[in-house]
Amino acid sequence: MIATPVLVINSGSSSLKCSLFDMVTGHEALSGLAERLNTADAELSWRTGGKKHKLPLHGEGHASALAAINQVLDKLPDLNGAPVAIGHRVVHGGEAFAESVVITDDVIRGIEHCASLAPLHNPANLLGIQVMQRLYPSVPQVAVFDTAFHQTLAEEAYLYALPIHLYRDHSVRRYGFHGTSHQYVAREAVDRLKLDPDDHAIVTAHLGNGCSAAAVRNGQSVDTTMGMTPLEGLVMGTRSGDVDPGLHEFLAEQQGWSIQEITQMLNRNSGLLGLSNLSNDMRTLTEAAGDGNSDAQRAIDVFCFRLARQIGALATTLGRLDALVFTGGIGENAAGIRADVLNRLSLFGFDCDPDRNAAPNTADGRITRDSGTPACVIPTREEWMIAHDAHRLTRN
Ligand code: ADP
Repeated sequence: MIATPVLVINSGSSSLKCSLFDMVTGHEALSGLAERLNTADAELSWRTGGKKHKLPLHGEGHASALAAINQVLDKLPDLNGAPVAIGHRVVHGGEAFAESVVITDDVIRGIEHCASLAPLHNPANLLGIQVMQRLYPSVPQVAVFDTAFHQTLAEEAYLYALPIHLYRDHSVRRYGFHGTSHQYVAREAVDRLKLDPDDHAIVTAHLGNGCSAAAVRNGQSVDTTMGMTPLEGLVMGTRSGDVDPGLHEFLAEQQGWSIQEITQMLNRNSGLLGLSNLSNDMRTLTEAAGDGNSDAQRAIDVFCFRLARQIGALATTLGRLDALVFTGGIGENAAGIRADVLNRLSLFGFDCDPDRNAAPNTADGRITRDSGTPACVIPTREEWMIAHDAHRLTRN
């Protein structure tokens, strides 16, 4: 029987993830994924007790997916009644939310207000919240924001050099994302590498389909690579990361593209996919590059060059570098990418140990030799962090 069950919902624009945790043991009793929502192929798949299940959703959307998850939970033998709390991932908290909060009507209005900054994400997050409030009216719900951890950035780090009224009147500034992941792996790194909790300077690199890096000083984010939207910064699976803002005018004039078409190209057809003309998936690219595919190698080279350059910039913000943490699907699994990036950063004292890098030790995750600056691999646990906050804020 699950003693203290907490449910986590990550309601995205076309997919929805859920996880049910036992907060006493940390065990994930159920994980589910609804994909291709609102299309003919919409489907819910979930895993519980080592078994996989699937259910077609017949073109339905978020509400049906959540109702189906509700029925799966009702039949779960280890769950006696409803979860004690529900945690929701919310992408954009603007300046209104510097930490996780119990959801009230005011919080819902605050998330709605931030929707102009994340028009694809926040409405989908809100939909998840509202459906779960209807399905579980007596269960407290908590919002955990991707941006919250970076609210400690100083003005000089978050302002763009634009007319200041754009910040004052329209909230145009850098916010940063993946905050839950950066915070988790930075804390773990302090613990595992035995750094001083009150005096440390760490760069964390979250490299998944979306990629961002952060500078963390004494547990607080002081700089990060993503900006007002998740498009800024590193090269990602399909996102370009930094480009010259003059590109928009050039493409509008030369190609006749609209702002929407350019934005779509920068978000969906760029990054690893655009450069390689092959795939947005790093595993596919490393395999292809290994077979001599120069297009795949080019994409990897640009990815590593930009990542190393940005890590160097973040280290400058920190003034020193005590450790570098790799996380996310690429950071946790792509040993060749880690070795390449560390090699480019030898100036900071990294000395990659090929054996450790090939199979990072699960205790401290260290992949560098004992002398020099440590770099380590720490698997991220965003869902667990959301469950943890939901439980922390709602237990009496
Ligand atoms: P998301 O941001 O969607 O959560 P993930 O964190 O799962 O994504 O990261 C997905 C990325 O991780 C993909 O580019 C995938 O190819 C890459 N990846 C996963 N396993 C490996 C591997 N063994 N080698 C190289 N890349 C990998």
